Amino acid sequence: MNKIHVLTAEISSKIAAGEVVENPSSVIKELIENSIDAGADSIIVEIKNGGISYMRLTDNGSGMSAQDAQNAFLRHATSKITSVGDLEKISTLGFRGEALASIAAVSNIELITKTQDSDGVFLQLDGGKLITQQTTGCPKGTTVVVRDLFFNTPARMKFLKSDKTETSYITDIVQRFVLGNPNISIRYIVDGRERLFFSGDGQLKSCVYSVYGRDYAKSVLEVDRCENDIKIYGLAGKPESSRGNRTFQSLFLNGRYIKNKAITFAAEAAYKNTLMTGKFPFYVLHIKISPEFADVNVHPTKQEVKFANERTLCDVVYWAVKNALAHSAEEQIIHFAPKIQQQHDLKSMAKEPERQINMVDNISLNNTTPRQQRQQNFEDNYQYKIVGQVFDTYIIVEFSDKIILIDQHAAHERLLFEKFKMTYQQNQQMAQMLLSPVAIVFSPPEHVAILENLQVFSKLGFEIEDFGNNSILVRQAPITAQRQTLKTLIGELISLIDSPGEAISDNEDQMLKTISCKAAVKGNTIMQKSEIDALINDITKEGDINTCPHGRPLFVTLTKYQLEKMFKRIV
Ligand code: ADP
Ligand code: MG
Repeated sequence: MNKIHVLTAEISSKIAAGEVVENPSSVIKELIENSIDAGADSIIVEIKNGGISYMRLTDNGSGMSAQDAQNAFLRHATSKITSVGDLEKISTLGFRGEALASIAAVSNIELITKTQDSDGVFLQLDGGKLITQQTTGCPKGTTVVVRDLFFNTPARMKFLKSDKTETSYITDIVQRFVLGNPNISIRYIVDGRERLFFSGDGQLKSCVYSVYGRDYAKSVLEVDRCENDIKIYGLAGKPESSRGNRTFQSLFLNGRYIKNKAITFAAEAAYKNTLMTGKFPFYVLHIKISPEFADVNVHPTKQEVKFANERTLCDVVYWAVKNALAHSAEEQIIHFAPKIQQQHDLKSMAKEPERQINMVDNISLNNTTPRQQRQQNFEDNYQYKIVGQVFDTYIIVEFSDKIILIDQHAAHERLLFEKFKMTYQQNQQMAQMLLSPVAIVFSPPEHVAILENLQVFSKLGFEIEDFGNNSILVRQAPITAQRQTLKTLIGELISLIDSPGEAISDNEDQMLKTISCKAAVKGNTIMQKSEIDALINDITKEGDINTCPHGRPLFVTLTKYQLEKMFKRIV
C-alpha cells in the first residue's frame, strides 16, 4: 500500500504559518512591515494579553482595493515583486507574500482598508476562511485586528510564554521599528495604556529619547561615514552609557532591523580600551547599501542577512564608530583639562599627614577555625603585621617569611560576595532602610523591566515601588550600597536580563557579584587603620579565598628568600 500522500491545504497552510508566525511579536513585526511598505507615516499598535487575545494595527498607508484585500490573504500573493530578478534588489520589507496568509491561517482576522480612490472594505476571516466582506466607510489606510492567535493550533499555543513575556517581545519589536524609522510616528498601547509614543519628527535622537529616555539620548555621538558606496550613520553611545548586555544595540540595513555578528563585533571593536570587560556599547547604526549587495532572503524572519562584501562593510562600520568616539575624546580633553588638574590638587590635599596610613600593628591569630588551619597564605600560630597601604589601593602585610600585597577592592568585594551569597541562600537579606527614599528615573524599557522583576529585587534586599513617569522609589537597598550609585547598580542588575522578557533569577550569582562590586571599597581610596584591620581580620576568618568574584587575584606574595636573592644577600 502506498504511504505517501499530499497534505490538505488546511494542514499545509498551518505548517507554513509556523515558519512566519512564531509568537504574537512576529505577527506585529509583519504587520508593521506591511504598513511601512504601504508608505504609512503614522502607525498605531494596540495589544491585549501579550497580543495573544488581541492585536490591532492601524496605518495611514496606501490601503487596498476590495479585490486586493481578498488577494492579500492568498499564499504567495504580493504586490512587491513580480520576477526572479526582483529578488536580487529587494527594496521593500516584505516580498514573499506569505505573512497575511500565515497569520490568517492561525487566528481570527478583521481587516478594514481603503485606498485614495476606492470605497472602504471590511473583511472577516476565521482560521483563514473568508466569513464576511462588505463595503464600509473609513479613512484611507488599513486596520488589521488579529484575535485569538493559535486558537486552532493548540500545540503552538502551548509554547507561548506568559502575557508579560510576550508583551516584552512585542515591545522590543516596536522599539526597534521606532529606532529604524525616524520619519514614522508610532503609538503603542498595551492593555489600554500608552506604553510608547514617537512623533516621527525625523530625528534619530528623538527616537532614542522615546525608546530609552533622556539619559541615553544625551549620551550619544553622531556617526556618519560614507566609503565604497556604503553609508553608515546613526548614534553611538558614549562609553559611560555601556551596559551589561547587547540589548541596547540596533543595526538597520536599508531600514530593516537586522542581526549580524561580524558587524556587531566591528562596532564593538571601535570601543576597544574604553570599556571594562563584560560591558557592551549602546548604539543605533543605519547601513545604507545598494540592495543587490545584501541577501535578506536567507532566513524566514529576514533578520539575518548575507553581504557580498562583509569585510569592507565591517571596516567602514569600525571607522565610522571609531571616528565618532575619537572626536568626542578630543573635545573632552580640551574641555576637561583644567578640571583634571583641579582634581589632582584636591587629592593631594586629602593626603594630610594625620590621615595617611602607615601603621605597624602586631596582631596574633588565635581562636582559629578548622578552615583557617587549611590555609596556605595566612592562616595559624604565626603573627602578621600590617605594614600599610600603598597607592591608596594595596595593603601590605608581613606574614611569616612573606610580604603579602592585597588588592583592597578585590578582597572586600570577595568578602561581601561570600556574605551576600550566604544570606541570600538562607532567604535573608543584608539590607538597610534608606534615611529618605531615593527617586530614580530610568529609560522606559529599564523601568518596565524593574517593575516586572520587583520580586527578584526584593530578594536581593531592595524595596522598590513604581513612582510613575518612568521612575521608581527606592526605600531599602543592600547594605553598604550608596545613594549616589543606586541608579548604576539597579541599571546593571537589570541589564543582567539576557534577553527581553527573561527572568533575571537565573543570574543570581552574577547579580550578587554586581552588588558586591558596587558596595566594595574602591581602589584609589585612602582606608582608615580600623578599616584595614577589619578587612584583614575578615580575610583571615574567611579562609580559602584567593580571587575576587570575577577571578582577579586577591593578593600577590613576595618571599623573604626572593627578596634576599634580589638584593644578592644570598646567591
Ligand atoms: P508581502 O508583504 O510579503 O507582500 P503580505 O502577506 O505581508 O506579503 O502582504 C500581502 C500584500 O498585501 C502586500 O504585498 C500588500 O500589497 C498588501 N498589504 C498588506 N498589508 C497592507 C497594508 N497595511 N497596507 C496596504 N497594503 C497591504
Ligand atoms: Mg508583508
